[in-house]
Amino acid sequence: MKKLPKMIIRFLLLLSLVMVIQFTPIFNRVVNFFFDKNVPLIIIPPMENKIRGVITIDLQVFDKSDPLSINVYLNKQKVEAIFPLLIDTNRFPDGDYVLMVEVMDSTIRKNKAFDTVEFIIDNTPPLVEIILEKEILEPGGFLKGRINLKEKALIEAKIAGENLVLLETKPSEFQNSESNILSFFFIYGIPLNQELPFKEISIKAVDEAGNKTSKLLTYQLKDRKFSTEFLTIAEGKTPLLDLELLRAERKIVEEVLFKMIKGIYWEGDFIPPVDSVVTSPFGVKRIYNQGLLIGRHNGIDYRAKKGTGIKAANSGFVVLSEFLRARGGTVIIDHGMGVMSLYYHLDEILVNRSDRVKKGQFIGKAGDTGITTAPHLHFEMRIRNVAVDPSHFYGGKKNDSPLY
Ligand SMILES: [Zn+2]
Repeated sequence: MKKLPKMIIRFLLLLSLVMVIQFTPIFNRVVNFFFDKNVPLIIIPPMENKIRGVITIDLQVFDKSDPLSINVYLNKQKVEAIFPLLIDTNRFPDGDYVLMVEVMDSTIRKNKAFDTVEFIIDNTPPLVEIILEKEILEPGGFLKGRINLKEKALIEAKIAGENLVLLETKPSEFQNSESNILSFFFIYGIPLNQELPFKEISIKAVDEAGNKTSKLLTYQLKDRKFSTEFLTIAEGKTPLLDLELLRAERKIVEEVLFKMIKGIYWEGDFIPPVDSVVTSPFGVKRIYNQGLLIGRHNGIDYRAKKGTGIKAANSGFVVLSEFLRARGGTVIIDHGMGVMSLYYHLDEILVNRSDRVKKGQFIGKAGDTGITTAPHLHFEMRIRNVAVDPSHFYGGKKNDSPLY
């Protein structure tokens, strides 16, 4: 008799345990329905500031009660809420948007929560404008211009297959450009040995949303004929025509010519460094001492008596000031963006390396040091080591705009 009640008690205990397990969710639900005051938790994951195309937003929602109703609004306008949340930005005009997601639980209180995220819809490729401000389309000439962008974008520009060096400038400095967000200046020297006739500038721009623009600009180079000069260097100077010596010296000079100061330090047009007669123009082929050395004249020679004052063709920084064997007394001025002026055969140098010089300032005195047949100034202009005709840099010609 004693055994039975114990068994009944055990059975009842077991039954109540099963009941509790079985009915807890329902019980909880009922309790939740009436007494839950907690609002749902909603998280919109961080998004890019600028978006394009179709995007997926991985919403995260947490709540005790089921089911949840979710409403999605884009600039207060209700949009279809399918999950995962997809937004086809092509259906909306470009502009600023606020996405609001509202979640409501199914309790008697209808606890609500919302989260918002702001972004810009941009499905428009960046507007790229290439403006050629000065173009002398021949070997020894140059192209100068500007690339304008109406919105922030990464830009890659190539000219004749090589990277175009761009200098970001303040758009406000230029006319008719208030609406430009970015403006890049470029100057490119056309080598004497450039193949003719067609070359191109290609530009690729990608905006912050990922929209791409490609532009291609073709330009035609015209041929320029150069004459040949025969020179005889006096016997005392013929050891200077040695190829090894010339190679070693070119290395010293090129180390400077391949560097460049960022920014622009020249002011307006360049001036001839000496007011005198041109005795040998730019680009002529040169044959020294019956073929002992054959070369190209990378600059202009001006007749100048020993001691004649030589002026800086424009403002900039002295990057080389040295007596070299073939070039003689040499000064090189970096005007910025790789635009440099070079002065050879000086008898005396009046500036030091790193000096900042002003346009027209005397930097040296003419002489006949190095490979010369008589006292003169050899004057060169280079754009990132490409020798260009200095006369293109002087002002006062028709159709000329200042260099910057
Ligand atoms: Zn010369």
